Amino acid sequence: MEQIWKATDCIHIRRLFDAAAGFTKLEESEHQHVHECQLCQGVFYIFIGLHSNIPPAASPKKTSAA
Ligand SMILES: [Zn+2]
Repeated sequence: MEQIWKATDCIHIRRLFDAAAGFTKLEESEHQHVHECQLCQGVFYIFIGLHSNIPPAASPKKTSAA
């Protein structure tokens, strides 16, 4: 199957997104690529940042502004 990203070995943005969200797991080779590719690494960390920025709905911790 021919892919759009033929020119590079880069991982699909969609896969990086899902992996960052914990929906899927990256393959060993994909992990390796993220390690070595600044582009994928940057995208991956952006996605992780996005997901971790979402505040938990029911957080028991309250900021007591006294
Ligand atoms: Zn890459």
